[in-house]
Amino acid sequence: MNCIFCDIINKKAVAEILFENESIISFLDIRPVNYGHTLVIPKTHYENFLVLPGKELCELIKVTKDLSGAIVNSLNPEGFNIVTNNGTAAGQSVFHFHFHIIPRFKYDDFRFRPKLKEYNNGSMREFADKIRAAVAI
Ligand code: 5GP
Ligand code: ZN
Repeated sequence: MNCIFCDIINKKAVAEILFENESIISFLDIRPVNYGHTLVIPKTHYENFLVLPGKELCELIKVTKDLSGAIVNSLNPEGFNIVTNNGTAAGQSVFHFHFHIIPRFKYDDFRFRPKLKEYNNGSMREFADKIRAAVAI
């Protein structure tokens, strides 16, 4: 399996590593939205959010929080986004699960402005019913 993130984990590819422990590694994104754009990934190759086990997710989100604090303290952005793209349609290009930490500034070029839809008569309930029927927590 070809995975650039596994190559970074295995030190077969170089990266600006910010943090590393037994199960997690974090490094700068090579094509940042803003400078300091960071990726946080599990060392085990999971393709996406749905197959990432809860225990790993908990560790990963805690490290993501701590690194967000380090980014805010060191780079002083005006805000930051935590993003995870899942599936090609959602913009995922590396199929090894990762959180993006994106430092943000009020007048930066990064915009997420969807054309918002409206639910037609009753369709909101229909969508909710479909999802509720699938909830198995
Ligand atoms: P995705 O599009 O899957 O949500 O995010 C993948 C991210 O990985 C992209 O933002 C891309 O710039 C970054 N990326 C891809 N290849 C490399 C690489 O070789 N090194 C680093 N540091 N980042 C990479
Ligand atoms: Zn991988």
